[in-house]
Amino acid sequence: MRILLVEDEAKVASFIRRALEEESYAVDVCADGMQGLAFAREAKEGCYDLIILDLMLPGLPGLEILKVLRKEQITAPVLILTARSQVDQKVKGLDAGADDYLTKPFAIEELLARVRVLLRRGSGEAAGVLQVEDLILNPATRDVTRGGRRIELTSKEYALLEYLMRNVGRVLTRPMIAEHVWNLDFDTFTNVIDVYVNYLRNKIDRGWDRKLIHTVRGTGYVLKAQ
Ligand code: CA
Repeated sequence: MRILLVEDEAKVASFIRRALEEESYAVDVCADGMQGLAFAREAKEGCYDLIILDLMLPGLPGLEILKVLRKEQITAPVLILTARSQVDQKVKGLDAGADDYLTKPFAIEELLARVRVLLRRGSGEAAGVLQVEDLILNPATRDVTRGGRRIELTSKEYALLEYLMRNVGRVLTRPMIAEHVWNLDFDTFTNVIDVYVNYLRNKIDRGWDRKLIHTVRGTGYVLKAQ
């Protein structure tokens, strides 16, 4: 899942980025409001699954970014970050279409939990786990099991599987997969995606009669029940 972080405090930004990347999210960081807005507008093409927005920013305040996004019907979930002294800003943010807020300083575990909740809301996932047939992925614990058997995945394999499972039944093209699982500078003309899908297949489908990951010739991949 791809997250845009708009935060001008370099220390805070790199701290959040590292924590998110450890959870296998693809993260883009902007330190300026205007740049943040330009990036966030890409959410229209479904590029970002979540936007984390600081309110006090150089260039353009977070609240203005949020207003423009909602006016342009960009519905990606937005989590705003506010300083403790900005209670009125918090209210304005929620009124302007933010989905949640977090007051600085915050515990990183809380940020990660809120991120999971917002991503869950976006995908209509109910009980907090993703399930396709007997394949179950728990975003909170990052446990993956098939038929009750635990599957060990690397960080990228996990990110790829989570993206496939959040879009069950939907054909995902290589550029889409690259965008949501890898970072911006990722070269989609390499065969890395095919390589990773094969790694995943070996762990998820190998030895099972019912295959869940399917190739759509000339297009990409889809995860679906048979
Ligand atoms: Ca700031």
